[in-house]
Amino acid sequence: MTTDTFSAGAPFAMSASPTAVPAEPVKETVRTIDPAANPARLRTDDVSVFYGDKQALFDVSIDIPEKSVSAFIGPSGCGKSTFLRCINRMNDTIEGCRVSGDITLDGENLYDPRLDVVELRARIGMVFQKPNPFPKSIFENVAYGPRIHGLAGNKADLEEIVESSLKKAGLFEEVKDRLHQPGTGLSGGQQQRLCIARAIAVGPEVILMDEPCSALDPIATAVIEELIDELRENYTIIIVTHSMQQAARVSQKTAFFHLGKLIEEGPTEEIFTNPREKRTQDYITGRIG
Ligand code: ADP
Repeated sequence: MTTDTFSAGAPFAMSASPTAVPAEPVKETVRTIDPAANPARLRTDDVSVFYGDKQALFDVSIDIPEKSVSAFIGPSGCGKSTFLRCINRMNDTIEGCRVSGDITLDGENLYDPRLDVVELRARIGMVFQKPNPFPKSIFENVAYGPRIHGLAGNKADLEEIVESSLKKAGLFEEVKDRLHQPGTGLSGGQQQRLCIARAIAVGPEVILMDEPCSALDPIATAVIEELIDELRENYTIIIVTHSMQQAARVSQKTAFFHLGKLIEEGPTEEIFTNPREKRTQDYITGRIG
Protein backbone atom coordinates (compact mmCIF):
# COMPACT_ATOMS: atom_id res chain seq x y z
CA MET A 1 0.00 0.00 0.00
CA THR A 2 1.12 3.54 -0.61
CA THR A 3 0.89 6.37 1.86
CA ASP A 4 -0.09 9.12 -0.54
CA THR A 5 -1.67 11.98 1.29
CA PHE A 6 -4.25 14.21 -0.31
CA SER A 7 -5.23 17.64 0.76
CA ALA A 8 -8.75 18.78 0.03
CA GLY A 9 -7.69 22.40 0.39
CA ALA A 10 -5.32 21.85 -2.52
CA PRO A 11 -6.87 18.79 -4.17
CA PHE A 12 -3.96 18.02 -6.42
CA ALA A 13 -1.16 18.63 -3.99
CA MET A 14 0.20 15.35 -2.75
CA SER A 15 2.48 15.35 0.21
CA ALA A 16 5.44 13.09 -0.34
CA SER A 17 5.97 12.88 3.35
CA PRO A 18 4.05 10.24 5.23
CA THR A 19 5.19 11.99 8.40
CA ALA A 20 2.40 14.49 7.78
CA VAL A 21 0.05 11.79 9.01
CA PRO A 22 -0.07 11.39 12.80
CA ALA A 23 1.07 8.17 14.43
CA GLU A 24 -0.71 5.17 12.97
CA PRO A 25 -3.52 3.93 15.15
CA VAL A 26 -3.80 0.26 15.89
CA LYS A 27 -5.71 -1.60 13.19
CA GLU A 28 -8.84 -3.18 14.48
CA THR A 29 -10.55 -4.77 11.53
CA VAL A 30 -9.49 -7.45 9.16
CA ARG A 31 -10.71 -7.34 5.58
CA THR A 32 -13.29 -10.07 5.21
CA ILE A 33 -13.65 -12.16 2.10
CA ASP A 34 -17.14 -13.40 1.52
CA PRO A 35 -17.02 -16.23 -1.01
CA ALA A 36 -20.69 -15.67 -1.86
CA ALA A 37 -20.25 -11.96 -2.66
CA ASN A 38 -19.78 -10.52 -6.12
CA PRO A 39 -16.19 -9.56 -6.93
CA ALA A 40 -14.99 -6.23 -5.56
CA ARG A 41 -13.96 -3.60 -8.06
CA LEU A 42 -13.97 -0.82 -5.50
CA ARG A 43 -11.43 -1.16 -2.68
CA THR A 44 -10.16 1.09 0.05
CA ASP A 45 -6.91 0.59 1.93
CA ASP A 46 -6.10 2.33 5.19
CA VAL A 47 -8.21 5.38 4.46
CA SER A 48 -7.96 8.06 7.13
CA VAL A 49 -9.60 11.48 7.08
CA PHE A 50 -8.66 14.59 8.99
CA TYR A 51 -10.63 17.80 9.40
CA GLY A 52 -7.82 20.19 10.29
CA ASP A 53 -6.06 18.53 13.23
CA LYS A 54 -8.98 16.31 14.10
CA GLN A 55 -8.92 12.75 12.78
CA ALA A 56 -12.45 11.66 11.87
CA LEU A 57 -11.69 8.32 10.20
CA PHE A 58 -9.01 5.76 11.06
CA ASP A 59 -7.48 3.32 8.57
CA VAL A 60 -10.57 2.04 6.85
CA SER A 61 -9.96 -0.91 4.54
CA ILE A 62 -12.90 -2.51 2.83
CA ASP A 63 -13.88 -4.21 -0.42
CA ILE A 64 -17.17 -3.20 -1.97
CA PRO A 65 -18.69 -6.00 -4.06
CA GLU A 66 -19.98 -4.94 -7.45
CA LYS A 67 -23.65 -5.02 -8.39
CA SER A 68 -24.85 -5.30 -4.84
CA VAL A 69 -25.82 -2.99 -2.01
CA SER A 70 -23.39 -2.27 0.81
CA ALA A 71 -24.74 -0.44 3.86
CA PHE A 72 -22.67 1.72 6.21
CA ILE A 73 -24.23 1.86 9.66
CA GLY A 74 -23.22 3.27 13.03
CA PRO A 75 -24.10 6.01 15.51
CA SER A 76 -24.30 9.61 14.39
CA GLY A 77 -20.86 11.19 14.01
CA CYS A 78 -19.01 7.86 13.57
CA GLY A 79 -17.71 8.84 10.12
CA LYS A 80 -20.09 7.11 7.70
CA SER A 81 -20.71 10.18 5.53
CA THR A 82 -17.08 11.21 5.74
CA PHE A 83 -16.06 7.83 4.38
CA LEU A 84 -18.75 7.87 1.69
CA ARG A 85 -17.53 11.29 0.52
CA CYS A 86 -13.98 9.95 0.15
CA ILE A 87 -15.18 7.55 -2.52
CA ASN A 88 -16.09 10.21 -5.07
CA ARG A 89 -13.77 12.84 -3.65
CA MET A 90 -16.52 15.07 -2.36
CA ASN A 91 -14.26 15.75 0.63
CA ASP A 92 -12.03 17.65 -1.80
CA THR A 93 -14.60 20.42 -1.60
CA ILE A 94 -14.32 20.75 2.21
CA GLU A 95 -11.72 23.27 3.31
CA GLY A 96 -9.10 21.77 5.61
CA CYS A 97 -10.14 18.17 4.93
CA ARG A 98 -7.32 15.75 4.20
CA VAL A 99 -7.57 12.15 3.08
CA SER A 100 -4.81 9.54 3.23
CA GLY A 101 -4.67 5.94 2.07
CA ASP A 102 -5.75 4.33 -1.17
CA ILE A 103 -9.07 4.05 -2.94
CA THR A 104 -9.17 2.15 -6.21
CA LEU A 105 -11.82 1.29 -8.77
CA ASP A 106 -10.69 -1.54 -11.03
CA GLY A 107 -7.19 -0.95 -9.72
CA GLU A 108 -7.22 2.71 -10.76
CA ASN A 109 -6.21 5.11 -7.99
CA LEU A 110 -9.13 7.51 -7.58
CA TYR A 111 -6.81 10.10 -6.04
CA ASP A 112 -4.43 10.12 -8.99
CA PRO A 113 -3.82 13.84 -9.58
CA ARG A 114 -4.26 13.28 -13.33
CA LEU A 115 -7.79 12.03 -12.83
CA ASP A 116 -10.62 14.31 -13.96
CA VAL A 117 -12.74 14.73 -10.83
CA VAL A 118 -15.85 15.76 -12.79
CA GLU A 119 -15.62 12.53 -14.77
CA LEU A 120 -15.01 10.57 -11.58
CA ARG A 121 -18.21 11.95 -10.08
CA ALA A 122 -20.11 10.75 -13.15
CA ARG A 123 -18.66 7.25 -12.69
CA ILE A 124 -19.36 7.39 -8.98
CA GLY A 125 -22.62 9.29 -8.60
CA MET A 126 -24.11 10.55 -5.37
CA VAL A 127 -27.60 10.97 -3.99
CA PHE A 128 -27.96 13.14 -0.90
CA GLN A 129 -30.08 13.12 2.22
CA LYS A 130 -32.37 15.88 1.08
CA PRO A 131 -33.57 15.66 -2.53
CA ASN A 132 -31.83 18.49 -4.35
CA PRO A 133 -33.22 18.84 -7.88
CA PHE A 134 -31.90 21.76 -9.90
CA PRO A 135 -34.38 24.64 -10.30
CA LYS A 136 -35.07 23.41 -13.81
CA SER A 137 -37.63 21.21 -15.54
CA ILE A 138 -37.81 17.47 -14.89
CA PHE A 139 -36.36 16.90 -18.37
CA GLU A 140 -33.52 19.37 -17.87
CA ASN A 141 -32.60 17.90 -14.49
CA VAL A 142 -31.84 14.59 -16.16
CA ALA A 143 -30.49 16.02 -19.43
CA TYR A 144 -27.98 18.29 -17.71
CA GLY A 145 -25.31 15.66 -17.00
CA PRO A 146 -25.42 13.90 -20.40
CA ARG A 147 -25.17 17.35 -22.03
CA ILE A 148 -22.08 18.48 -20.13
CA HIS A 149 -20.44 15.10 -20.59
CA GLY A 150 -21.28 15.07 -24.32
CA LEU A 151 -23.11 11.74 -24.08
CA ALA A 152 -25.85 12.52 -26.59
CA GLY A 153 -25.14 12.96 -30.32
CA ASN A 154 -28.40 14.75 -31.01
CA LYS A 155 -31.78 15.74 -29.55
CA ALA A 156 -33.31 12.29 -30.08
CA ASP A 157 -30.37 10.64 -28.28
CA LEU A 158 -30.78 13.02 -25.38
CA GLU A 159 -34.51 12.35 -25.16
CA GLU A 160 -33.79 8.64 -25.17
CA ILE A 161 -31.27 8.98 -22.31
CA VAL A 162 -33.72 11.08 -20.28
CA GLU A 163 -36.57 8.63 -20.82
CA SER A 164 -34.53 5.52 -20.03
CA SER A 165 -32.99 7.14 -16.92
CA LEU A 166 -36.42 8.14 -15.63
CA LYS A 167 -37.65 4.59 -16.32
CA LYS A 168 -34.70 3.06 -14.45
CA ALA A 169 -35.46 5.37 -11.53
CA GLY A 170 -39.09 4.21 -11.58
CA LEU A 171 -40.38 7.72 -12.25
CA PHE A 172 -41.21 7.90 -15.95
CA GLU A 173 -44.85 6.83 -15.76
CA GLU A 174 -45.55 9.44 -13.10
CA VAL A 175 -43.96 12.35 -14.96
CA LYS A 176 -44.15 11.54 -18.68
CA ASP A 177 -46.90 14.13 -19.26
CA ARG A 178 -45.13 16.93 -17.42
CA LEU A 179 -41.48 16.58 -18.35
CA HIS A 180 -41.17 20.31 -18.89
CA GLN A 181 -42.56 21.31 -15.53
CA PRO A 182 -40.20 22.15 -12.64
CA GLY A 183 -38.56 19.23 -10.84
CA THR A 184 -39.07 21.08 -7.59
CA GLY A 185 -42.85 20.70 -8.03
CA LEU A 186 -42.66 16.94 -7.44
CA SER A 187 -43.27 15.23 -4.08
CA GLY A 188 -40.24 14.51 -1.88
CA GLY A 189 -40.08 10.86 -2.91
CA GLN A 190 -40.44 11.75 -6.59
CA GLN A 191 -37.72 14.39 -6.25
CA GLN A 192 -35.40 11.79 -4.73
CA ARG A 193 -36.13 9.44 -7.65
CA LEU A 194 -35.46 12.36 -10.00
CA CYS A 195 -32.06 12.80 -8.33
CA ILE A 196 -31.43 9.07 -8.80
CA ALA A 197 -32.40 9.43 -12.51
CA ARG A 198 -29.99 12.36 -12.76
CA ALA A 199 -27.18 10.22 -11.34
CA ILE A 200 -28.07 7.31 -13.64
CA ALA A 201 -28.17 9.51 -16.78
CA VAL A 202 -24.38 9.85 -16.91
CA GLY A 203 -23.80 6.10 -16.82
CA PRO A 204 -22.30 5.57 -13.36
CA GLU A 205 -20.76 2.32 -12.15
CA VAL A 206 -21.21 3.15 -8.49
CA ILE A 207 -24.02 5.11 -6.80
CA LEU A 208 -23.41 6.51 -3.32
CA MET A 209 -26.51 7.27 -1.26
CA ASP A 210 -26.21 9.29 1.92
CA GLU A 211 -29.31 8.57 4.02
CA PRO A 212 -31.48 8.89 0.91
CA CYS A 213 -34.75 8.27 2.73
CA SER A 214 -34.25 10.32 5.87
CA ALA A 215 -36.44 13.16 4.55
CA LEU A 216 -39.15 10.85 3.20
CA ASP A 217 -42.33 9.35 4.61
CA PRO A 218 -42.63 5.56 5.03
CA ILE A 219 -44.43 5.04 1.70
CA ALA A 220 -41.88 7.03 -0.32
CA THR A 221 -39.14 5.22 1.63
CA ALA A 222 -40.55 1.83 0.64
CA VAL A 223 -40.62 2.90 -3.03
CA ILE A 224 -36.96 4.01 -2.89
CA GLU A 225 -35.92 0.80 -1.11
CA GLU A 226 -37.62 -1.26 -3.80
CA LEU A 227 -35.87 0.81 -6.43
CA ILE A 228 -32.47 0.28 -4.76
CA ASP A 229 -33.11 -3.44 -4.87
CA GLU A 230 -33.79 -3.24 -8.63
CA LEU A 231 -30.81 -0.98 -9.31
CA ARG A 232 -28.31 -3.40 -7.83
CA GLU A 233 -28.72 -5.55 -10.90
CA ASN A 234 -26.75 -2.95 -12.84
CA TYR A 235 -25.00 -0.75 -10.30
CA THR A 236 -22.76 -1.02 -7.28
CA ILE A 237 -24.57 0.80 -4.51
CA ILE A 238 -23.37 2.08 -1.16
CA ILE A 239 -25.96 3.42 1.24
CA VAL A 240 -25.34 5.27 4.48
CA THR A 241 -28.28 4.77 6.76
CA HIS A 242 -29.12 5.41 10.39
CA SER A 243 -31.83 2.79 10.12
CA MET A 244 -30.69 -0.72 10.89
CA GLN A 245 -33.97 -2.02 9.54
CA GLN A 246 -33.25 -0.33 6.25
CA ALA A 247 -29.74 -1.77 6.12
CA ALA A 248 -31.16 -5.22 6.81
CA ARG A 249 -33.84 -4.80 4.14
CA VAL A 250 -31.77 -3.43 1.28
CA SER A 251 -28.15 -4.50 1.65
CA GLN A 252 -26.17 -7.64 1.05
CA LYS A 253 -23.10 -6.35 2.88
CA THR A 254 -23.01 -4.23 6.02
CA ALA A 255 -20.15 -2.27 7.55
CA PHE A 256 -20.45 -1.02 11.12
CA PHE A 257 -18.55 2.12 12.09
CA HIS A 258 -17.92 3.47 15.57
CA LEU A 259 -15.89 6.52 16.59
CA GLY A 260 -14.29 6.79 13.15
CA LYS A 261 -13.30 3.15 12.94
CA LEU A 262 -14.64 0.35 10.84
CA ILE A 263 -15.41 -2.15 13.57
CA GLU A 264 -16.82 -4.99 11.55
CA GLU A 265 -18.06 -5.76 8.06
CA GLY A 266 -19.52 -8.79 6.39
CA PRO A 267 -22.65 -10.29 4.87
CA THR A 268 -25.64 -8.34 6.19
CA GLU A 269 -27.34 -11.38 7.63
CA GLU A 270 -24.26 -12.32 9.61
CA ILE A 271 -23.75 -8.80 10.96
CA PHE A 272 -27.32 -8.68 12.22
CA THR A 273 -27.62 -12.21 13.50
CA ASN A 274 -24.16 -13.22 14.55
CA PRO A 275 -21.79 -10.25 14.89
CA ARG A 276 -18.23 -11.03 15.94
CA GLU A 277 -17.66 -7.80 17.84
CA LYS A 278 -19.30 -6.78 21.08
CA ARG A 279 -19.60 -3.16 19.88
CA THR A 280 -21.58 -4.32 16.84
CA GLN A 281 -23.80 -6.43 19.05
CA ASP A 282 -24.34 -3.49 21.41
CA TYR A 283 -25.28 -1.22 18.51
CA ILE A 284 -27.69 -3.57 16.81
CA THR A 285 -29.38 -4.35 20.08
CA GLY A 286 -29.73 -0.63 20.84
CA ARG A 287 -27.21 -0.46 23.67
CA ILE A 288 -25.06 2.16 21.94
CA GLY A 289 -26.07 4.82 19.48
P1 ADP B 1 -21.82 10.28 10.34
O1 ADP B 1 -22.10 10.36 8.87
O2 ADP B 1 -21.53 8.89 10.80
O3 ADP B 1 -22.90 10.94 11.18
P2 ADP B 1 -19.77 12.23 9.82
O4 ADP B 1 -18.94 11.64 8.77
O5 ADP B 1 -20.77 13.27 9.42
O6 ADP B 1 -20.49 11.09 10.65
O7 ADP B 1 -18.84 12.88 10.93
C1 ADP B 1 -17.70 12.21 11.47
C2 ADP B 1 -16.93 13.21 12.34
O8 ADP B 1 -16.35 14.20 11.50
C3 ADP B 1 -17.79 13.96 13.35
O9 ADP B 1 -17.03 14.14 14.52
C4 ADP B 1 -18.07 15.26 12.67
O10 ADP B 1 -18.27 16.29 13.62
C5 ADP B 1 -16.78 15.48 11.88
N1 ADP B 1 -17.06 16.26 10.65
C6 ADP B 1 -17.88 15.91 9.63
N2 ADP B 1 -17.88 16.85 8.67
C7 ADP B 1 -17.02 17.82 9.08
C8 ADP B 1 -16.58 19.06 8.53
N3 ADP B 1 -17.01 19.48 7.34
N4 ADP B 1 -15.68 19.78 9.24
C9 ADP B 1 -15.24 19.36 10.46
N5 ADP B 1 -15.61 18.21 11.03
C10 ADP B 1 -16.49 17.44 10.36
